[in-house]
Amino acid sequence: MESAASHPKRQAALPLLERAQGLKIKVSDSFGPILKRVTAIYPGSFDPVTNGHLDLIHRGAKIFDELVVAILRNPEKDPLFSVAERREMLEAMTKELPNVRVDEFQGLLVDYAHTHHAAAVLRGIRAISDYEYELQMAMMNRKLDPNLETIFMMPAEKYSYLSSRLVREVVKLGGSVDGLVPPMVAERLLSKVNGVTRSK
Ligand code: ADP
Repeated sequence: MESAASHPKRQAALPLLERAQGLKIKVSDSFGPILKRVTAIYPGSFDPVTNGHLDLIHRGAKIFDELVVAILRNPEKDPLFSVAERREMLEAMTKELPNVRVDEFQGLLVDYAHTHHAAAVLRGIRAISDYEYELQMAMMNRKLDPNLETIFMMPAEKYSYLSSRLVREVVKLGGSVDGLVPPMVAERLLSKVNGVTRSK
């Protein structure tokens, strides 16, 4: 039978335990406190993912143990890319990040966060104009679940004017989105927009 000392989870926790002891942090040698991991949800439409989203994902991945990028399935919106297409692009763009995964959700974010044992929601603030809407959302989510924290992060300045909507519009009007979305996304946008134009 496997002893507690050789349990794989305990083995995995050893470096953390040693680090904590080195820093003279008092920790209990049990699974609970050592293995407490913080999961955050980064929800959005990602129609399509932009370099601004990816900037935020990289920042979030540095501070959370696990980051779940959750694509909102919104039946009321008429998206350019299907959820499956958005998911495929996000997965390709985050495959190098071991603590990031992509998922989809519908309904209340607080319910989704609860099922995934998430302690936080990550949101991006680009300009003051984002703040009012984001504040409303954060306050409503806090009312629905007082234990769920919303964490705001700012992207690099060069992405602070960037949105998926703007990217879609620029591509539809024949402009270049180089440097604003990854090359794979730019290609998909072009074929989607050209396909739509041809079939009209
Ligand atoms: P949008 O369609 O405006 O890009 P999403 O619903 O896909 O919006 O956005 C999901 C989250 O990502 C939101 O919190 C939004 O503020 C944030 N976000 C979107 N674009 C950027 C960006 N360029 N920089 C930082 N955060 C962003």
